[in-house]
Amino acid sequence: MFEWNWSLAGALIFYHIYYVVFSLYVHRRLHGNIEFNPTFGKVSRFILWLVKFYYKNWPPHYSAMHIMHHKFSDTAQDPHSPYFFTMSEFVDFNNYAPGYPWYVTPEDIDKYSSLPNNCDWIEQNIYEKYPTKGIYVLTFIFFVLYGFAGAAIGYLMTWLLIYMHTYLTVYAMHKFPLRYTNTTPPDKSVNIFPIGILLAGEELHANHHNRPNNLSNAHRWFEFDIGYWYAKLFIALGWAWVPQKR
Ligand SMILES: [Zn+2]
Ligand SMILES: [Zn+2]
Repeated sequence: MFEWNWSLAGALIFYHIYYVVFSLYVHRRLHGNIEFNPTFGKVSRFILWLVKFYYKNWPPHYSAMHIMHHKFSDTAQDPHSPYFFTMSEFVDFNNYAPGYPWYVTPEDIDKYSSLPNNCDWIEQNIYEKYPTKGIYVLTFIFFVLYGFAGAAIGYLMTWLLIYMHTYLTVYAMHKFPLRYTNTTPPDKSVNIFPIGILLAGEELHANHHNRPNNLSNAHRWFEFDIGYWYAKLFIALGWAWVPQKR
């Protein structure tokens, strides 16, 4: 029983770290709101690879797709609008073609991408060669830390996280019924909760759509964005900085 409790605690901590990495290293960075030193980048890419957030040349592709999501929000040109695609289409990651979610053309990438490819040794020899094997490494880490209970929880947590993250980032943040504020049409982004801890501040998605170049997603006195405070901490430690706007 003890082992299960520690395993769950470990899974929750890992989940939080993953969300902070996604929110800062992927999302806020692609908007040019923050940049990180190479060591922080390497650790972040490792964490992303562990939970299968990896495909070849993902930085230019993902950034182009997301910039288009802002530019054409909830129109037919938005690559991840829940008003044009179903949840089952979103999680069908093998169907990558025109007419499916996530798809962007090479021309779109040329035009909109904001992050460069990674070209170091670990990219070419590990991530590119074994793009989906991170989950086994994560399971092994949980096994070493917490035994068989940990391995089971680590493995299941990864799948849960993949589906939950997809649901939250592409579906809930534009369609969640329990929104507490909304932006003006045609943008349908919503703030799903004023205290941004569980999703590292991504809860305040309508705020982010209103001011995508703000490092902080908390815009009103009662809102809290933990991702912003992590960013401030990393900047104070010298691991990150706010770049000059492009
Ligand atoms: Zn959005
Ligand atoms: Zn964004």
